Amino acid sequence: MNAQKRSARGEIVHDTGEQIIQTGLWYKILIGMALGISFGLLLSPYGADGLSYVINDADAKAKILSTISEWIELLGVIFLGLIKMVVIPLVTCSIILGIADSGNMAFVKKLGLRIVPYFILTTAISISIGLCAVNLIKPGMNFDQDRLNMAVESARAENAIKTQTFDDLTIPQRIANMIPTNPAKANVDRNMLHIVIAAIIVGLALLQIPTETTLPITNLCRSIQMVTMHIIGWAMQIAPYAVFGLLGKITIGLGLEALTSVGLYTLTVFAALCAMMVVYLILIKCFSDFSIREFLRGIREVQIIAFSTSSSAATMPVTIQAAEEKLGLRHEITRFIIPLGTTVNMDGTALYQAVAAVFLAQAFGVDLTLSETILLLITTIGASIGTPATPGVGIVVLATILAGIGVPAEGIALIIGVDRILDMCRTTINVTGDITAASIMNKWIK
Ligand code: ASP
Repeated sequence: MNAQKRSARGEIVHDTGEQIIQTGLWYKILIGMALGISFGLLLSPYGADGLSYVINDADAKAKILSTISEWIELLGVIFLGLIKMVVIPLVTCSIILGIADSGNMAFVKKLGLRIVPYFILTTAISISIGLCAVNLIKPGMNFDQDRLNMAVESARAENAIKTQTFDDLTIPQRIANMIPTNPAKANVDRNMLHIVIAAIIVGLALLQIPTETTLPITNLCRSIQMVTMHIIGWAMQIAPYAVFGLLGKITIGLGLEALTSVGLYTLTVFAALCAMMVVYLILIKCFSDFSIREFLRGIREVQIIAFSTSSSAATMPVTIQAAEEKLGLRHEITRFIIPLGTTVNMDGTALYQAVAAVFLAQAFGVDLTLSETILLLITTIGASIGTPATPGVGIVVLATILAGIGVPAEGIALIIGVDRILDMCRTTINVTGDITAASIMNKWIK
């Protein structure tokens, strides 16, 4: 299983040897997705409301629906649980090995110096697309003020909006805070940024120490990587059922009312995310070794899993595997860029935050000047780096951005109803962004 391979530079590297994305898995996952949504619509009170034919009592119906949801979601929860269990050791070992296997500091330096500006540039493009879309479509203009006030009042009354404002720190303090002084705590808190930075530092150190000394550590990392990938292989076997359950549960609970009241806003985010997808495909066509068709075929499982789980972190092992197995990208590229990108490169989230912020500003009648819009762009880039790669956090971080442009955070109550569906879409874009970056760097850095 632990086959030896030669890396692009000719050194022997150990392959994880795990074929976790089986042929045909894509179809099965897609069928799971379609069945999950259909099943959910069949039962949802906003869909066919199937249970109402057999049960009249509303309370009893709600109870049964919640039990059904819980049961069908179970395989999804197990799937996600298995992945979450191994994601931290996998990220740590992948980054350490990605750097150590690259064999020389010059390569890592080259990669670092290209990938950081690339991430910032694509995030800026993504936010600009969002800003153009929201300013063109203007979904918040002439918004029904009664509906807005009601949402704000109820949020105030229930204290429902969780806000996460960045501490009032100076820039040097913020930079200093990026150093993972307590890696054990970073693991417990699942602070991915700290985990990634700690792994990069260890990887760089290993690179400068003679191989005989570092071999025990790199071998341990390889073993851990093998074990974690094997566990992910198990998880992938239940992926189609997991996707069925996750989507079934979401569809049962989805209030279509929420969707119609902010339908134009939802469409704006969706259209802008699609435009960002087109940007990626153009980048792939121009700067990678793949045709658009090859690329899309290589990433389809990744996209469906990202869509169903709303978590780039949970999707990350599959992203790495698809990048290596299906697109044939080099380990030292994928295992550095994908974990890093999952943590700091969230183009979909940034775009969504920009659209949501301007939509709410329009709804509240707050006029944004050009300098405020530029400030919004900069804050959103920063916020998307700090947003953890898990479901629903993009909207929490949005409160910080709103505070910066003088829009009441309670306005979030208006868009919370459609957050899950938009989260699914933006997470799909987030992971596509990471794999696009890896594909481009794979060609660019030889
Ligand atoms: N769910 C997103 C992700 O994991 C983050 C967010 O926008 O909430 O990429």
